[in-house]
Amino acid sequence: MTVTELVSYEDALASYDPVMGLEVHVELGTKTKMFCGCSTELGADPNTQTCPVCLGMPGALPVVNAIGVESAIKIGLALNCEIAEWCRFARKNYFYPDMPKNFQTSQYDEPIAFNGYLDVQLEDGEVFRVEIERAHMEEDTGKSTHVGGATGRIHGAQHSLLDYNRAGIPLIEIVTKPIEGAGERAPEVAKAYVAELRELIKALGVSEARMEMGQMRCDVNLSLRPHGREKFGTRSETKNVNSLRSVERAVRFEVQRHASVLSAGGTIIQETRHFHEEDGSTTSGRIKEEAEDYRYFPEPDLVPVAPSREWVEELRGTLPELPRVRRNRLREQWGVTEHDMQSILNAGAVDLIVATTEAGADSAAARKWWMGELARSANESGTDLAALPITPAQVARVAALVAEGSLNDKLARQVIEGVLAGEGGPDEVVEKRGLKVVSDDSALGAAVDEAIAANAAIADKIRAGKVAAAGALVGAVMKATRGQADAARVRELILERLGVEG
Ligand code: ADP
Ligand code: MG
Ligand code: ZN
Repeated sequence: MTVTELVSYEDALASYDPVMGLEVHVELGTKTKMFCGCSTELGADPNTQTCPVCLGMPGALPVVNAIGVESAIKIGLALNCEIAEWCRFARKNYFYPDMPKNFQTSQYDEPIAFNGYLDVQLEDGEVFRVEIERAHMEEDTGKSTHVGGATGRIHGAQHSLLDYNRAGIPLIEIVTKPIEGAGERAPEVAKAYVAELRELIKALGVSEARMEMGQMRCDVNLSLRPHGREKFGTRSETKNVNSLRSVERAVRFEVQRHASVLSAGGTIIQETRHFHEEDGSTTSGRIKEEAEDYRYFPEPDLVPVAPSREWVEELRGTLPELPRVRRNRLREQWGVTEHDMQSILNAGAVDLIVATTEAGADSAAARKWWMGELARSANESGTDLAALPITPAQVARVAALVAEGSLNDKLARQVIEGVLAGEGGPDEVVEKRGLKVVSDDSALGAAVDEAIAANAAIADKIRAGKVAAAGALVGAVMKATRGQADAARVRELILERLGVEG
């Protein structure tokens, strides 16, 4: 049934509890594909990174990528999963033109990792545990481009193009158990889970997990059940949601849509749905098939994967500090609020600030430059902080010049501007632009005298004891010296000249 008026989010929550299931696909950053030696490098001409294995030629035999298995185990361990002592790949049979083998090599009832959890921190600091059903290995499909239609979808297209470069790139699919008990915070929990998972994947170094590039994508399952009922309702599955914000919006929309259907006496059908970025809505995709429809069976061409316990323990030993734990540690070290830490995280500045402090800056200065001047600059040019042409070591050098008094903030901003403009490192820019704080009295004296002469009325006020008025004279001297005067020394000189105590 179609619904024209959506029930409000609040009204939906007043009658129903949401249950969610999140399926996240992560493209691994391995050099070669999961079952052949083809390169995974992005940006190559279509169909130049293919071979008989990933094109599904008769007789071609796959071989498992060891780094792919290692990455899967690391992800499993980081998600507190058990690692299978023995597991197999399975064929998931269906036809689609972007999948030349006519089946996807995946895992079915024998995933490499299962039964784990990930603790995620919500905005108010509360920790919510999301239980993990499984993490399994599989492969990506090729890419279809539908040409000639208005929407880019196959409907209405004149013809389709196929690029198999992506076919066979390793994927790890991470599936949660049904997430219950989030209540009205379901959209926030979903977003926080995907965000935390992304940080974790990045920290493990197994993928860059860039959602905007499709390296990480999320299917959002959602159902509602009336308060107090135990049995789950029928779920919808919104496919390929590819930003954190969209995950949050998709959950919210589906809560409202399900509630609208249910409270009008309708029934939810189990189907896949498409998410629409423009207005945050979803529309019907295809009626959901059941697992039986895929006629899964164990892959006969691949040997089972049986990771030794020694190997698993060795990999456990390489796991980095969990992102949430690290964030909390840094937040305490830096003495910032949850809210500030969230902004730093959102700006992608955590690692840059850490690197800047490792290069010798104190954390307050590192934060100030990355979250101030540099964030502004990144914003203006529409790039990420990390992509700015300045290194943490250079930022640390600017901070050191400020700390030793040879630059003030205003000059430091000019130095940063110079570095960003490609004029060289901080010392070079200081040299070339002649940027140095002038604190030597003989050089400042004349400017101070001029300022006093030009502002006689203010000078009188100061003489009469209104020391606060000195600020205006300091300003005049700073202006006259194009910001290069040592403001503190200028103030002292002014008060000295006017015969008042500071
Ligand atoms: P499929 O392959 O059909 O998508 P999966 O079991 O792989 O099925 O994934 C379904 C996801 O949805 C899992 O995260 C699961 O926990 C969750 N889920 C299952 N049933 C429901 C339900 N009734 N409501 C919400 N989520 C559900
Ligand atoms: Mg699914
Ligand atoms: Zn290949």
